[in-house]
Amino acid sequence: MAKIVDILAGGPSSSFEFFPPKTPAAEEQLEQALLELEPLGPSFVSVTYGAGGSTRERTHDLVVRINHETAMTGMAHLTCAAHARSELAGIVTRYRDAGVENILALGGDPPKDLNLPPGDLKHATELVTLIREIGDFSIGVAVHPEGHPASTDVRDDRRRQAEKLALADFGLSQFFFDADVWFEFLGDLDALGVTTPVIPGIMPVTNAKSVKRMSEMAGAAFPRWLEEKLLAVDGDEAAMRAVGIEAATELCRDLAAGGVESFHFYTLNRSTATREIYANLGRETAGS
Ligand SMILES: Cc1cc2nc3c(=O)[nH]c(=O)nc-3n(C[C@H](O)[C@H](O)[C@H](O)COP(=O)(O)OP(=O)(O)OC[C@H]3O[C@@H](n4cnc5c(N)ncnc54)[C@H](O)[C@@H]3O)c2cc1C
Repeated sequence: MAKIVDILAGGPSSSFEFFPPKTPAAEEQLEQALLELEPLGPSFVSVTYGAGGSTRERTHDLVVRINHETAMTGMAHLTCAAHARSELAGIVTRYRDAGVENILALGGDPPKDLNLPPGDLKHATELVTLIREIGDFSIGVAVHPEGHPASTDVRDDRRRQAEKLALADFGLSQFFFDADVWFEFLGDLDALGVTTPVIPGIMPVTNAKSVKRMSEMAGAAFPRWLEEKLLAVDGDEAAMRAVGIEAATELCRDLAAGGVESFHFYTLNRSTATREIYANLGRETAGS
């Protein structure tokens, strides 16, 4: 186990994101992905949290198990939405007592149909402060290179992200598909005096429809060039995967050419896309 802030200070990193499975079949799929991705030696892996608390136990148990039963360092996502301050304090205290050292502090968007109460903390920054009060954690925050979908003013959005990063140890980004998006974002953060490390999130598109839906929700542009390439092979699942993996590989190459050394991969609990991108990039291990 290690603090992510120290891992990042040590050089290039690769990290993988998983979500807590709901069904026995999904559990099996995750187990397989963990088994197959562990040999790549990720710098850390993260486990998402169902905003509103739907995965409270499952996120906790999976992170603790990763820390204890694998060679990987786990990070728990935690969202403020719909939680009382005391509930969040309880969750963070439990992580501290279980030896979990890394938390990604998030606002969270609970499903609208559940009509949950708003919660005591409004934004991720308040959760960062609460976590710092409870223990000596390494704390990450989410960053949005194309702006948070709820933001109406780009400059305001950038300023808030810079303020949030100033409180945190590192940032992990929402996915995006064009390297220019990242470099423009880095330029803006630089102009705002941000020195906190930020890591780009890479989403291999293996299913055009679901990624288009996710992009809309995340505020990420689903570029026309990618859609056209995917539409050209519509109906051919294998060809679609190949297009998605090639696009993600090219994005990593473009980012690396511009000096990016660390990547965060959205695995969607599968190993193959991430492993193929690794192989394409000639990365034998996470830090290479
Ligand atoms: C890497 C990554 C991992 C994620 N993991 C999860 C997960 O596990 N579970 C989950 O449910 N969701 C997750 N999300 C999604 C996240 O919960 C949503 O983006 C959510 O809408 C906002 O949370 P945030 O922490 O990104 O934003 P916040 O920093 O809380 O900001 C949300 C909005 O409020 C605005 N804002 C911030 N501070 C203020 C202020 N003081 N006054 C007024 N406005 C303000 C911001 O500009 C922004 O528009 C993840 C996102 C990313 C990028």
